[in-house]
Amino acid sequence: MDTRNEPGWDLSPLYTDPDDPALAQDLEQLQKTARTFRRDFRGRIASDHLTADLLAAALHNYEQLQRWGLKPYLYAQLLFSEDSRPDRHKALLARIRELWSTVSEEVLFFELELLRIDEERFVELSREPQVAQYGHYLRQLRAHAPYTLSEEVEQALKRKDLSGKDAFSQLFEELTSSFVFSFTFPGESEPREVTGEELLSLLHHPDRALREEAFSVFLQRHADNALVLTSCFNNLLLDHAKETELRRYPDIMTPTHLANETQPAMVERLMEVTEANYGLAQRYFKLKKELLGLDEMKNTDLYAPLGTDARQIPLNQARDLVLESFRGFSHELADPAGDFFTAKRIDAMPRPGKAGGAFCQPMMPGMSPYVLLNYTGNPRDVATLAHELGHGVHFVLSGGQNLFHYNAPLPFAETASVFGEMLLTRHLLDREQDPRVKIELLCAKLEDIIATTFRQNVLTRFEIASHQRRAQGLLSPDDYSELWWKHNAALFGDAVTMIPAYRWGWSYIGHFIHARFYCYSYVFGELLVLALYRKYKEEGAAFVPRYLDLLRGGGSRPPQELLDPLGIDLTDPEFWQKGYDFVAELLEELQTLVANAKT
Ligand SMILES: [Zn+2]
Repeated sequence: MDTRNEPGWDLSPLYTDPDDPALAQDLEQLQKTARTFRRDFRGRIASDHLTADLLAAALHNYEQLQRWGLKPYLYAQLLFSEDSRPDRHKALLARIRELWSTVSEEVLFFELELLRIDEERFVELSREPQVAQYGHYLRQLRAHAPYTLSEEVEQALKRKDLSGKDAFSQLFEELTSSFVFSFTFPGESEPREVTGEELLSLLHHPDRALREEAFSVFLQRHADNALVLTSCFNNLLLDHAKETELRRYPDIMTPTHLANETQPAMVERLMEVTEANYGLAQRYFKLKKELLGLDEMKNTDLYAPLGTDARQIPLNQARDLVLESFRGFSHELADPAGDFFTAKRIDAMPRPGKAGGAFCQPMMPGMSPYVLLNYTGNPRDVATLAHELGHGVHFVLSGGQNLFHYNAPLPFAETASVFGEMLLTRHLLDREQDPRVKIELLCAKLEDIIATTFRQNVLTRFEIASHQRRAQGLLSPDDYSELWWKHNAALFGDAVTMIPAYRWGWSYIGHFIHARFYCYSYVFGELLVLALYRKYKEEGAAFVPRYLDLLRGGGSRPPQELLDPLGIDLTDPEFWQKGYDFVAELLEELQTLVANAKT
C-alpha cells in the first residue's frame, strides 16, 4: 500500500462517509433539539421563578444538543484535514458550519440569560449539587457578562462572522494548504513536487545551503502571495479591533485572559522574565555555532543536525520509544497512548492536500480523540509524536468530565503534551551511552524549549504589536515584516543572523489566524512542565497520581485550583524564573558534555 496517499486513520467510528445517512440524521436531531430547547427554556432562565432543577435540566439538554452537532462537525473537520482538496470535503464543512450558525442563533438566548441571573440568586443555585457539577463552566461564562451585547446584536455578529472573520481564516487555510513546491534535491537532476511541510523539514537537513534554499523557497511563495496573506491579517486584526471597541474590552487581550483565566499582570510577568532570560538562548546559539564549526550562525542553522548521519527513525520504532517512556511513568499514560495506533486514530504521513503541522483533535467525553502528524522520520518528529500523544492521553483522561469541563483551561492545554516530550527525552538520555548522542539529545531538547518559550514569546510580542498598530490603520506587507524582524532580532542578538527571506516568517504562522494570542500558552505550558518535571524527580512515585488527577480534572476548576494539590503558586514571582533556572541546568549539563568530549 502506498501510505503516502492513504489516510492513516479510521473515521468509521464517526461516519462511513460524508453521505452516511446517520450524519444527516444527527444534523436533523441537532436542529430538532435546538427548537425544543428554545421552546422549553427561553425566558425561563433569567426569571425570578428559576429553580435549581430547571437550570440543571436546561444545562443537561444544552449539553446533549451540542453533542448532536459536534459529532458531524468534528467529522467534517477531520475529513478536511485529511484532504482539503475534494469539493465534497469543503462542501460538508461549509454546510455544517452554516447549520451550526443557525442553531447557535436559536440557542444563543441561553448563555445570555445565564449572564442575567442575579448574582446572589446565582450563588444560591450554584450550591445545589445538580447545578454545582456545571459550576466552573457557569462561573467562567459569567466572567464575560460585562462585555456581552444584546441577543439581537450577538445574533447579527455571529451571522456576519460567516462572511467576515471565518471566511478570512478559511481563505488563509485553503490558500496555504494548496501550495505545492517544485524543489531539486541534492543528487537529483529533476525537481519534484513537495509540500510546505516537507520543505520546512529540510531545516533539519545536514546540507547548509539546502536548508537555506528550502526555507527561502517556502518563504518566497508566501511573499508572492503577500497581497492575499496581508489582507487576511489586516482583516482579522481589524475585526478584532472592532470587536474590542464594540464590547468595550479594556484591552485587546482581555477576551484571551477571560478565556484562559489568566491575569494580565501574570502574563506580562511571564513574558518579562522570558525576555530577561534571552541571554540563555543566545548562549545556546553560540555553543551550537561552535559545535557546527561555523563562523556565522544563520537562523536556518538553528535546527541543523550535529552528526553527518541524518538518522531516520521509522514510525513503528518511534511509537515504541514513546510508549516505553510513557510506561516508565505510568501505564495509565502508556495504555491510552497505545490505543491511538491499535484503533487507527492517527494519520501520520505527509500527503499533498493534507493539513500541515501536527495536532490532536479533541472530540467529546465518550468519543476518542484523533492525532494528525506529518511524520518525516527525523528525531524531532519522534518528539512531536510524544507531544501529540500527550495531548491525546489528556483528552482521554478528562473524558470523565462533562462536555463543558472536557477541555483544560488554555494555558494548561500544552501541559500533558510537553510533559510527554520531557519523559521521552529523559528516557532517551538514560538509555544512551555515547556522549555524542547525548549531546545531540540535549541540543534537541534545548532547541525545543527555546522554540516553545523564547520563540513563542517573540511571536506573542509581534502579535500584540501588530494588533496595536492595526488599530491605528492598515499595515503594509513591509510593516508586518519590519515588526517581525525587530522582535526576532531582540531574541537573536549578535548570536544569529536572519536570512533575508525570513522577513516573511510572520505570514505562515497559523496561530495568528486561527488562535489569537495563543502562543503565550506555550511559554506558560513549557515552564510549568519544567517545574512539574522537577517535582516528579524529587517526589518520585508519590507525584504520579497527583499528576494524573491534574489531567483528569480537565477544565473543571480554575488553573490555580487545579495546581493547588501540587503545591504550585502561579502568583509567586519566583515561579517563572525557576523554569529558566532548570533550562540553565540543562545548558550546563550540555556544556560539561561538550567540554569533556574535547579532552
Ligand atoms: Zn500542542
